[in-house]
Amino acid sequence: MPARIISGKDIAAEMRAELEPQVVELKQRGITPGLAVVLVGEDPASQVYVRMKAKACEKLGMHSETITLPEATTEDELLATVDRLNANPAIHGFLVQLPLPDHIDSERVLLRILPTKDVDGFHPENVGRVAVGDPTAFPPATPFGVQHLLMRSGVQIDGSHVVIVGRSNIVGRPMASLLLQRRKGGNATVTVCHSHTKNLPDVTRLGDILIVAIGKANFVTGDMIRPGAVVIDVGTNRVDDPASEKGYRLVGDVDFEAAQQVASAITPVPGGVGPMTITMLLYNTLQAARRWAEN
Ligand code: NDP
Repeated sequence: MPARIISGKDIAAEMRAELEPQVVELKQRGITPGLAVVLVGEDPASQVYVRMKAKACEKLGMHSETITLPEATTEDELLATVDRLNANPAIHGFLVQLPLPDHIDSERVLLRILPTKDVDGFHPENVGRVAVGDPTAFPPATPFGVQHLLMRSGVQIDGSHVVIVGRSNIVGRPMASLLLQRRKGGNATVTVCHSHTKNLPDVTRLGDILIVAIGKANFVTGDMIRPGAVVIDVGTNRVDDPASEKGYRLVGDVDFEAAQQVASAITPVPGGVGPMTITMLLYNTLQAARRWAEN
């Protein structure tokens, strides 16, 4: 029997419907949760992401600001923008869209963001607090979204062996931290693989849950998956497709058709992890606004 599809689209819609009354409730108390996104330069993919974030924010009734700066913006000018957002009471959370132009030190910029407004969860303080299992930290949106996808689709995380392929700071590492936490959505046994892992298929086949985030189209084949495993495909890769209007289509890091014959459940690309990412950013922003209201 082919694997059950875990629809990130449906779960994200369900979560956003739950967030909406919480936004209304905060507004009734005079606080409109506000998210700002800073975009430097004209990277087309970043422009699309930023537009999607602003639209999702407004749809939920939250305040949204997009600050677009030219490619030639200096590091000091960007830091001054960060300082203004840190001090702006209408903005409860903000992020600087990555990648930044080469002449800007991303680390310095990330360090300047107030951890209480760092809804992307990339400030080292949030990274550290997620790593030690602090429930008040802001986890990065993508792995946080994967954790919610698993929980909401009834996948047993507690006690399961989760194999993660990819150790980036955006996905793989924080994913491991979240699944190791000593609470609901955690308590997994976690293995993290990367490009130096020996006999990768032997390791991936150990996973009750296999999470793949490497950025290589269709890399994980059916024989790398344990029969009955749950497969979460974070990868988003463009492959040429002359039949499509855009000339390309999106595929994951997992060979979906083959995996579907082996796994018990699987996320599609698109429509899997992707829609959860923005939802978790909104979720973190709402938490930031709520904490701001309490202080
Ligand atoms: P990075 O390029 O930062 O990291 C890739 C990781 O994969 C590295 O740890 C690398 O190992 C590992 N890797 C690469 N090749 C292999 C291999 N042959 N065998 C084992 N491990 C390998 O990527 P990201 O984490 O930023 O993104 C991964 C994918 O997820 C991309 O397709 C990206 O587009 C997608 N993504 C999707 C999001 C969404 O919202 N849906 C959000 C973020 C990312 P090493 O460390 O040794 O180099």
